[in-house]
Amino acid sequence: MFAPDSSTARRKDLHASEERFRLLSEALSGIVYDWDVTTGQVDWSEGMTKLVGYKTHETDPYMAWWHDCIHEGDRESVQQALAAAMSRTQSLFDLEYRVIRRDGSMAYVQDRSRIVYDPAGQAVRVVGCIQDVSRRRSVEEKLCQTQERFERALQNLPLTLFTHDRDLRYTWLHNPAYPAVEQSWLGRTDAELESVFAPEDAARLMEFKSRVMRTGKSERQEFALRSREEVRFYELAAEPLRDREGQVTGVACAAIDITDRRRAQAAIDELNVQLEARLRELQIILDTAPVGIIIAEDPKCKVIRSNLALAEMVGMAPGENVSKSSPDTDRLPYRVFRDGKEVAADDLPMQRAARLGISNNDELLEIVRGDGSPIKIILRAEPIKGADGAVKGAVGCCVDVTDLKKAEQALKEADRRKDQFLAMLAHELRNPLSSITNALALLRMPKIDEENRNWAGEMADRQLSTIVRLVDDLLDVSRISSGKLQLKMEPVDAATVVGRVVETLRNQLSERKHELTIEVDPGPLPLWGDPTRLEQILTNLLQNAAKYTDEGGHIILKARREGDEIVFEVSDNGIGIPDEVLPRIFELYNQVDASLGRSRGGLGIGLTLVRNLALMHGGSVMVASEGPGKGSVFAVRLPVARAALERTQDSRP
Ligand code: ADP
Repeated sequence: MFAPDSSTARRKDLHASEERFRLLSEALSGIVYDWDVTTGQVDWSEGMTKLVGYKTHETDPYMAWWHDCIHEGDRESVQQALAAAMSRTQSLFDLEYRVIRRDGSMAYVQDRSRIVYDPAGQAVRVVGCIQDVSRRRSVEEKLCQTQERFERALQNLPLTLFTHDRDLRYTWLHNPAYPAVEQSWLGRTDAELESVFAPEDAARLMEFKSRVMRTGKSERQEFALRSREEVRFYELAAEPLRDREGQVTGVACAAIDITDRRRAQAAIDELNVQLEARLRELQIILDTAPVGIIIAEDPKCKVIRSNLALAEMVGMAPGENVSKSSPDTDRLPYRVFRDGKEVAADDLPMQRAARLGISNNDELLEIVRGDGSPIKIILRAEPIKGADGAVKGAVGCCVDVTDLKKAEQALKEADRRKDQFLAMLAHELRNPLSSITNALALLRMPKIDEENRNWAGEMADRQLSTIVRLVDDLLDVSRISSGKLQLKMEPVDAATVVGRVVETLRNQLSERKHELTIEVDPGPLPLWGDPTRLEQILTNLLQNAAKYTDEGGHIILKARREGDEIVFEVSDNGIGIPDEVLPRIFELYNQVDASLGRSRGGLGIGLTLVRNLALMHGGSVMVASEGPGKGSVFAVRLPVARAALERTQDSRP
């Protein structure tokens, strides 16, 4: 038997030990080192390239070389820790620090070593392992950062987060507003937090969370929670917590305080209610206002809304777009005119106000509706400007002045007629007065003979009675219009009235060579009236017939009964009356041709008296004429005097 060659065996051992060293360092993915403290030499295993980028031949077998690799900022602390470890006989050194790789980049390493001491307690050998922990460190750092960001974010959110176990006990709580309460809540349920939640609030909260656990579905609900002095509102979201098998183990909740939001919302709701009430009031005002109101909410006035009054003015339904600038203006049933010319949409007051941003003062416009009826309006338009001063639309207001304009016209007309009347009056008085003056001059002549004296006297009489009649007529008109004329009513027969009038006027009529036909129905024609005034009616009509019929005309006076009425009719074949004058013929001071030169005398008050007297007797007067040259017919209708009629019937045998 040969004893094994001891040197070969040792070499083999050494080899095996180096191999183990290498494998170990590889397995640890770092380097293993053996530092002989007494010599200062270090055995580095392979792997330095991987760790710091230096090839084996670039390394030095001294700890000082490694210390040069350590990050400057960590060198001192590493030295101190190592020195402490080596002196304190604690035999283990474990430290993380930074190193600088060959390429200048930084890595984190964990250095763990075992320190061997001699019997005197001196460190003689350090065997250790250095591992690259950069990845773990960066993961840890990121985690740290994430955690920090998350916590920061939570700190700044009005959010309370918490979890419960199956029994709804708080297992974790994050409440940045009250960090102090967190610990005291743990392990307790809402119901057990009596000083925090009112019992019925706690019950509702727990019922909600139980339901989430029972159904396994997340839920969100608003809660009003009473605390001592106020009610606060929360939105609570709950999500079931599950274990690996999917079994529900509790519930995770997030609560957000929405009290301020709710209060703001309540304030907005309240304002909205008030606003709606105001709007309703405004709508009522708009709809009941007797003036037309229009509103355009765009600067081009493509849509114009109107109130009821305006819709009626233009003959449209309320709520319809009345704008002449809308794309389909053909549907609008009205047209607008200014001084007789149709106004283009762009030139209408609203459109101008919105386009130019200036208000349009009262403008007189004529609107002709679909049915052809015209009205006159006065319209004022104002631009609506936004806070930035830009025009947003326009608003307009208009009044129907049709009646006002008519009244104005009528007033002007009455004024004109009055002027005319005064001129006529002067004229009418002057002629008889100058005749009277002449007669007086004649009478004053010393040698005047009997015949001339009589003639002058008669003429003065005639002219005076013309003046008296004129003045009487004028006084009558003024008495009637001031309601002072009294009728002396009595039973009277129409035939009697006719007889008396014809008696008085026969001479006058024959002067102008007119033929007078009288047709009075036989039988009673009883009236209840003032005989003098009834005669005045017929006198005026007959005198007019004589006056407005050329010499040698034919005048017919009829009296008859038609039902409950007695009708007097005076017709002539004279100059007639134009159609357009007929409706106004009974108005005061009205004459068909009032030019002084063509007048046939008279002041335009005779027919007014006729109409008023007929009205005072409960009757009416009508006129008809086929036109100029075709004669005229005046008919006065008066109620028959029933009582008188009945009396005459009773007295019959
Ligand atoms: P006047 O004093 O002018 O006759 P009236 O009131 O009696 O005033 O009549 C008003 C006008 O009506 C007259 O001026 C005349 O133009 C017209 N008129 C009245 N009667 C007749 C008639 N029979 N034929 C034609 N025109 C008449």
